[in-house]
Amino acid sequence: MKGMAQEEKVTHYCPACGAWMDLGIFSTGIETDGISLEIVDSHLLQCGECGTVALPDHCRRVAAHNLEKARADGRKVCRFQVKGVESFRFHFCQDPEFIFDPADYFFIPGLADPSGSGAMTPVFFNPSVLNRYCSHPDYVLELLSRSHGTIGRGGEFEIPFGINRKGKVFMWISDIDRLPQTEQYYLRSENVPSDHDVKSNLYHAYAGEELESASLESKFLAARARLNGLCLKHRGFRLYRLAGKMEDAVFCLTQPIQWDGPNRGKKANVFDILINQSLSENHLRRELSGCLQGGEEKIKSPVLLLEKWLELVIGDGDAAATAKPFHTINDLRDQAMDLLPADERKEAASSIVRELGLGENAPFGLMFETAVKKVIESYDAIGDGLKIF
Ligand SMILES: [Zn+2]
Repeated sequence: MKGMAQEEKVTHYCPACGAWMDLGIFSTGIETDGISLEIVDSHLLQCGECGTVALPDHCRRVAAHNLEKARADGRKVCRFQVKGVESFRFHFCQDPEFIFDPADYFFIPGLADPSGSGAMTPVFFNPSVLNRYCSHPDYVLELLSRSHGTIGRGGEFEIPFGINRKGKVFMWISDIDRLPQTEQYYLRSENVPSDHDVKSNLYHAYAGEELESASLESKFLAARARLNGLCLKHRGFRLYRLAGKMEDAVFCLTQPIQWDGPNRGKKANVFDILINQSLSENHLRRELSGCLQGGEEKIKSPVLLLEKWLELVIGDGDAAATAKPFHTINDLRDQAMDLLPADERKEAASSIVRELGLGENAPFGLMFETAVKKVIESYDAIGDGLKIF
């Protein structure tokens, strides 16, 4: 039990084992200076790994106040509840009003500010809230890691969002407050009650903590966003534009998915969408106008268009090799979704492991990870080509 007398700031990390602690309502007891403090049904932090309990700053203040009182009254036992924030309203987002839990602002470490403004109160949404920003050409949705991204509309606004471990999207209420009211009404339609989980790069960035960048998903999305930015800077368009529904993408980026489990096809398809199907075909075609010959103008595959663009516009001397990992991702998706006839499946898998330089019996997960790493290398190579263009 982390005592209330400790001076250092309470963070979301367990003081005993360093794991992330979850905010929840429960009871605990502290023995201090011979007085037993019993805190009942209050917002506390608990480590899911080792069970350690810590008091958020607001609880520590209330506990210290109660301890003083007990000491003055000569009591050995003091039982209390930390309450009084449930119906709190902040001045942000008055119309429309959003569903949120003011307790998140008061009890999640690092969110409360001395003014009590409520600015950093998280407001939660269904992952489908992101669909609008993928289906409308005026918006740009950029995934920067598996747990955060931005939504922009021309030079009008850009708002960051987080994706928590359960796949819920959240934004800070003061950021929402700055959006045009029509945008706020749309967001309100996808607004859901808080699940109090802000573990994401959006929170890490605000709390001044290191961002999660170690996962392959986050490395890949960061490289993809970097390339998008370079393409915009040097060629005036984004190489990628996500379209369609985002629920599957959010699910596959945030949930542990086994490659031998039922969702492997879904996960492979999400990566194919992110790597191949969301290539900006129209822009590639426009850049290639006048360069394609004969039947090349009829090219349907976005990856083949990319390959031609690399060769004829960017001047990549080995465009086929640079684009190869994109094709491999497409082949792996066909494997994972069982799109090939049984007699072709084995040969196709052998051909993929040869391309990737893996052993004949390489498991699917290793094949996929290797292919995604090769895509990242290609992204970096394309980015270098754009910089010297
Ligand atoms: Zn712990």
